[in-house]
Amino acid sequence: MDSTDVYDEYFNQSRIETEEDFQNQELLWCDECTTNGIHLTSEDDLIDHGFNPSEAPYGICISCAIDYGKLQDENLDKNDYTNTEFFHQVGHKTLAMVLKRRKLTDQEVSDGLERQKSIGYYRDFSNKYKLKSLYRSAITEERYRKMSPPYFVGNRLRYHGIERFHSVGTDDLKSNYELAKMKVEKHVEPPESEVERPTPMEFRRDWFDSLIDSFMLHEMDNNGRPNKRLAYALICTYLHKSWDWNNVEPFWVFARRMSIGNIQLMRKMNDWINPITNYHIAQIESLSIEPSLQTITNLVGIIVDHSHDVLIGDEESQQLIQASANLLKRLRKMEINIPKGNGNETKSLLEHIHSTMKFKNTFSIQNYEFFAAGSIEALCISYCAGSILGLERRNVLHRKFLFPKLNGFPWWKKELTSDAVRIIENFDKIIGRLQT
Ligand SMILES: [Zn+2]
Repeated sequence: MDSTDVYDEYFNQSRIETEEDFQNQELLWCDECTTNGIHLTSEDDLIDHGFNPSEAPYGICISCAIDYGKLQDENLDKNDYTNTEFFHQVGHKTLAMVLKRRKLTDQEVSDGLERQKSIGYYRDFSNKYKLKSLYRSAITEERYRKMSPPYFVGNRLRYHGIERFHSVGTDDLKSNYELAKMKVEKHVEPPESEVERPTPMEFRRDWFDSLIDSFMLHEMDNNGRPNKRLAYALICTYLHKSWDWNNVEPFWVFARRMSIGNIQLMRKMNDWINPITNYHIAQIESLSIEPSLQTITNLVGIIVDHSHDVLIGDEESQQLIQASANLLKRLRKMEINIPKGNGNETKSLLEHIHSTMKFKNTFSIQNYEFFAAGSIEALCISYCAGSILGLERRNVLHRKFLFPKLNGFPWWKKELTSDAVRIIENFDKIIGRLQT
């Protein structure tokens, strides 16, 4: 990551369409550090540093408040870069500069590019902040709010109070993180290194901290090329939450609620970091996870939180989970014969459906096949919604949320294999036959 990204970041915040827009572009400016500081613009970050967002409408610069003595203190964890102890403070307020917005002269722009010659730990430290700011602004506040569940979204200190935050135990955290946690179940034990982290709960749940490795990789790979941070961040989020928490949903559901088109997604998928890193491969492979009570519960959680056309109550959501899990059980028990070679192969109906639920080759990253994770769960939930929510609400949920068809021929139908599309279209009939 280099200093041009700082400019990049602010150019992204407004429309630059003509040369004139470019000339008139205003940049964030700190009277001490000019354009090169660590600029915090999100409300949560301001509150962490003791600022009321209204007193700093363009955000604050915290580079000028860094306590370099603390940064060299071996006892403080430099990875916890959001720890406000690293900054000179009065009370709980960081001695940061309030940012201004102004047009820069050509000289100031080139001076700015020349600055930032910092090295070592300071560079690492401030890069993490900048990285966070880059990706948070790329996805925008509105999308960020939709990251929950499963990510924890909001301000950590606001929930705990600053003193409590430093002394809080895991059990205390449970009640505070109830909302963020309850909707996500996980049966797989976290790896040992995670268990050993001092504050596993909020660290694991934070969106940026969960994805920082992927973001760093992207910035290193992306040098000098047009960035596609929004699409990259969303694809990484989708892969991460499916892999780490079995928090699956159909890709098209995620894309739609994150307001991103498939063209934008596929462009990024075709322009992935080459060679693809091993953990991205593992994440893509994890999309083939078999549906379970857990994945159904997670998808119902997403529906309850994000399907604004159909509001679902607590009791209804419990019924949906139960009925869908029962349906899944029946799919697993039902055996069918599939012609294979000269004979037949016996499989469970679930196994058969699961093996067909894939995207075509065109929807892949470097030829790693994408399973349509979450689609069987979506089919079961939609089917069961008929008797639990009534047909009218069920149809709205189906057509507007789970299998949206709002703009003519939906992209997901185009990108799925024809076998998958056939099953999605005939699922109700298949289950109907099962009943008799
Ligand atoms: Zn500054």
